[in-house]
Amino acid sequence: MNRDRLKKLAADKRFISGIYNYCDRWCERCQQTARCLNFSMSEKEFSDPETRDIRNEKFWNKLSETFRETMELLRESAKEWGVDLDTLDYKEDIEDRKAKDAAVKNHLLCRVARRYSDSVEDWFKERESLFFETVSAARDGVDLDDAVEVIRWYQYFICAKVMRAVRGEIEDEEEEGDEFPRDSDGSAKIALIAIDRSIGAWAVIRAYFTDDAKGVIDIIAFLDNLRQAVEKTFPRARSFIRPGFDQIGPNG
Ligand code: SF4
Repeated sequence: MNRDRLKKLAADKRFISGIYNYCDRWCERCQQTARCLNFSMSEKEFSDPETRDIRNEKFWNKLSETFRETMELLRESAKEWGVDLDTLDYKEDIEDRKAKDAAVKNHLLCRVARRYSDSVEDWFKERESLFFETVSAARDGVDLDDAVEVIRWYQYFICAKVMRAVRGEIEDEEEEGDEFPRDSDGSAKIALIAIDRSIGAWAVIRAYFTDDAKGVIDIIAFLDNLRQAVEKTFPRARSFIRPGFDQIGPNG
């Protein structure tokens, strides 16, 4: 997509600004695709199935083309703001970013969230009877596949959003003031939503998985502890208004 088309699309009033920042990235299930610039761009840019296949050269060509266009657009905007990207001193920024990366990685919340992702992986690896449980649940009209899909979708997403929230918190501490809304609260909110939905999905699994009830209960308890810890660390997260999802306004 060339820069002019990109600019035109970005200025389109039908899109809700920043809607994709606090969604769960599950576009297939999203009610707001028509209001999302991100979705619209990927539909236009990656309409050819080959450009969606990570093993296909077209995918990488498309990605580098999009990257090039975005960088040019960024340079253009920076110039308008009087900033020359080529003369900026990045050395200090890189050191600072490395220190923050390490702080985020070692933060207790992030370690716990990562442990949840690993536990899910281990649980599924060991579940050879899952197929039979799924068939048995289907006979009772329960879609166990859907519960599995939900758990799998959020398995790594929770950790990614918790990490983003923690990073935001660290960066916010460097700034003065106590402004709201904060990006860290928005990230924590979508992490909490993902945790809530995952707990619901695990509860469905629990009802139909007879050979490892304790294992499932342990995972639910672990996730519930993570939920409480996120709520404690980000007490304003639940009241964060996500554009397009939590409000009805002129644009929502
Ligand atoms: S807002 Fe909806 S359509 Fe846009 S990226 Fe998020 S999930 Fe996908």
